[in-house]
Amino acid sequence: MYEFAVTPAVTQLRRPGVIITEVSPGSLAAELELSPQDRITRVNGRQVRDYLDFRFQTAGETELTFQVKKPDGQTIDIEFDRDESEDFGLMFEQIVPRQCANECIFCFCKGNPEDARPSLFVRDEDIRLSFLYGNYTTLSSITEDEMNRIVEQRLSPQYVSVHATDLKTRAYLLGVDEKRADIADKLQRLLDNDIELHAQVVLCPEINDGAILEKTLRDLASHYPKVVSTAVVPVALTRYNTDDRLTRVTPEFCRRTIKEVERLQKEFRKTLGTTFAFLGDEIYIKGGVEIPSRRHYGSYPQIEDGVGMVRAFLGKIAPIADRGLRIADYESAGVVTRDVRTSPIAMRPRNPRSAIRNPQSTHGTILTGEMFAPILREQIERFNATHGTRLHVLAVPNTYFGGDVSVAGLLTGQDYRNIAGQIEGDFVIIPKHTIKSDEPILLDGMSFDELKSILKVPVYDLDTDGLIEFLAHAA
Ligand code: SF4
Repeated sequence: MYEFAVTPAVTQLRRPGVIITEVSPGSLAAELELSPQDRITRVNGRQVRDYLDFRFQTAGETELTFQVKKPDGQTIDIEFDRDESEDFGLMFEQIVPRQCANECIFCFCKGNPEDARPSLFVRDEDIRLSFLYGNYTTLSSITEDEMNRIVEQRLSPQYVSVHATDLKTRAYLLGVDEKRADIADKLQRLLDNDIELHAQVVLCPEINDGAILEKTLRDLASHYPKVVSTAVVPVALTRYNTDDRLTRVTPEFCRRTIKEVERLQKEFRKTLGTTFAFLGDEIYIKGGVEIPSRRHYGSYPQIEDGVGMVRAFLGKIAPIADRGLRIADYESAGVVTRDVRTSPIAMRPRNPRSAIRNPQSTHGTILTGEMFAPILREQIERFNATHGTRLHVLAVPNTYFGGDVSVAGLLTGQDYRNIAGQIEGDFVIIPKHTIKSDEPILLDGMSFDELKSILKVPVYDLDTDGLIEFLAHAA
């Protein structure tokens, strides 16, 4: 999911147009004398609201007129021709997300400590970010303009938090009235216009599980293939979630849910040819049940929602750990699956990624959350045995959020500080997603530089593909 580099929209005065942030030297834009801070307000007479509009209105156009507002207030028109596929060489400001109007009882914002970094309190509900980055929306407060925009600009697929198709239950979960919670017509309109949807259910014990979950999955599956997949992920409560309407997810609850959903998955595979309803990895791990096979996940449509991540990782590491597959084989095998949900036209925040392509030492520590640590440790021990490396996996307890939070992506600076004395070797690897995507700070506001000085050895932030790449080089 894309995390926002911006302050919430309500605190910003929005002016028409989209602001240029970078112009590539020698590009068409440089030739047109466009500069950072210029605001493109119209393309061929049509208003531009954001970079998505800019993309849409310039696509395939060879004769163009830009209306540009310069930082000194001057407005100019620039007329020019270009080859159809010629890139402008422009980067734009990120989209300022629209805020949601829900009061979900499990909202992640309610699980944040008060001093969490401001971007963690952004309650985005934006169909543009859903299309660009795979962020989920509830559609409960979508406007007519936004509906039209999805259809006109083909902002497909959309990612929709359905939670329950039983209206009373959905309204209860979202904390809104039934009229607002009812999205049946909106979903139908999107499907009628051939917009693909991926759905999500945040599973809350005793609220939307059991028969309600079965109804939800059956209702959604009846729209397959336009509703492509559904992810069922367990509610994760931190120590700050004290709402007594919520019940924590237990291993027993996970096992029962797996059993119930397995029955439906079998049925869907028979009737639809796909598993369709995928349970989050956390449910299997917490329930002590084996993660399903590679075939279960198909093309991993919900991998960025923590669905199939473990199986994908095991599939990638096995050849390296067991058979000593080296980097050349690894690269030619093309086993990397990055950014499944991020659209190719999305602007990615720049992240000074710390790659370790040519490790000088193979003696180091890999930090991860308590949930994934046993799985990763087993694989790394096999890897060490095959390759003679000395890599250690250390499970980091999450003391910042507390509660049920044990995933790697929510570890904070203070959590790393707590285990600093247990680090072995010449370097440490931390999960990439614990660093903000466009700024070197951690979830609790600690800077990456401060973390490096605390850990006293070089620190590399890698996602699972980055880790695989590192291992393949170290093999
Ligand atoms: S839709 Fe619900 S969970 Fe998402 S930001 Fe809004 S209140 Fe929070």
